[in-house]
Amino acid sequence: MRKRKRFELDENEMPKKWCNILPELPKPLPPPLSPATNEPLNPKELEALFPKELINQEISKEHDITIPKEIRETLQDIRPSPLIRAQRLEEFLKTKVRIYYKYEGERSPTGSHKVNTAIAQAFYNTKEGTESLTTETGAGQWGSALAYACHLFDLNCKVMMVKASYDQKPHRRTIMELFGAEVHPSPSSKTEFGKKLLSEDPQHPGSLGIAISEAITLALKQEQTKYSLGSVLNHVLLHQTVIGLEAIQQFQMAENEFLGPDFIVGCVGGGSNFAGLAYPFIREKMRNGYEMQAVAAESTAASKMSDGDYRYDFGDTANMTPLLKMYTLGSEYIPPPIHAGGLRYHGVAPSLSVLINTGNVSPMKYKQQTAFEAAEIFAKSEGIIPAPESAHAIAAVIDLARESKNEEKTILFNLSGHGLFDLLGYQKYLANELE
Ligand SMILES: *Cc1c(COP(=O)(O)O)cnc(C)c1O
Repeated sequence: MRKRKRFELDENEMPKKWCNILPELPKPLPPPLSPATNEPLNPKELEALFPKELINQEISKEHDITIPKEIRETLQDIRPSPLIRAQRLEEFLKTKVRIYYKYEGERSPTGSHKVNTAIAQAFYNTKEGTESLTTETGAGQWGSALAYACHLFDLNCKVMMVKASYDQKPHRRTIMELFGAEVHPSPSSKTEFGKKLLSEDPQHPGSLGIAISEAITLALKQEQTKYSLGSVLNHVLLHQTVIGLEAIQQFQMAENEFLGPDFIVGCVGGGSNFAGLAYPFIREKMRNGYEMQAVAAESTAASKMSDGDYRYDFGDTANMTPLLKMYTLGSEYIPPPIHAGGLRYHGVAPSLSVLINTGNVSPMKYKQQTAFEAAEIFAKSEGIIPAPESAHAIAAVIDLARESKNEEKTILFNLSGHGLFDLLGYQKYLANELE
């Protein structure tokens, strides 16, 4: 008989506190700099964009931050997520390595981990009197998560969607509109920056960096309107640590002891799903010295961790955001259009950058074709079609499992979302038409 495959927690076993990595970092986090003065930013300067509680979380040195009851109750509709042993994948790979994944796409209404922070951000905004949120979205995963959360907490939601995706991926736009959001293609005629770009090129395809500039401009211009970001910032990564905190309990159930997995793997756009799974384990490693290798999988189309510089850079194209010290390809870099839209970002979270810089996290980069081949293997063995972003993590898992073929090792990875809205990419893969 097959061994047990799924490890579930009850709703009341969901974490009651988030895990803050900032006080655990081996080197202090370099402070964000004000774009006006190039001096360390005064947190007050962020109050035009974010509610105070999120700014507090952004700079907090507390080890654990209590999850408010209202957020826990809302998260309980969609969590805990399962930990699953990938037994058929192990058999396919003929490996002794035990492979587990945390699946964030199963109960999430929009199919990925992003809703974990969308709910928290919508809650704090409502509590502090915000009436509308603006944001950007690439392929639409973040926009749809925020649209859903805004509906739950009675906020208006305005999404600036990268023009190329707005035209090519109508389904995600439909989801956002169904949840009640207003969706505009970016560059748009709603901001001076957007107008300038459109006058230079009426067919401008847009980019995430441009859409961020536009969403920030709108938030600053309108009353009771704030801005929301789906990755990169400390508070966003913090909200995602429910993933790893649950996984610690589930891994104990699965392996009957806690040493934690030998490898932890996640894909990286801005770093939030990777951090969500890995940070609670990295904290165990820092405190208790358990041996573990954390692997961050990125796309060759936006390989900032492998090939970027570690320096201060802007988060957006119009250079409006604070400067963050991070691995970056440059804020003007526009990644080629790959189907893993969520990985097309020029920079990566500052906390993750410190961990890479100190050798605590190792980057690996994968081509689109390799990621889709890994996705096909996974879909056939586990019966889940992964998001093209998550497929990059699977490619890394397959490499690691092959390298340690005959060893009694364990791998845990984050299956950050499903790919049921990405079938166009799969269609091109099957037709051999991927770039
Ligand atoms: C957005 C997204 C990512 C990349 O963003 P991170 O902040 O790095 O997690 C990865 N996977 C899925 C499914 C996404 O939607």
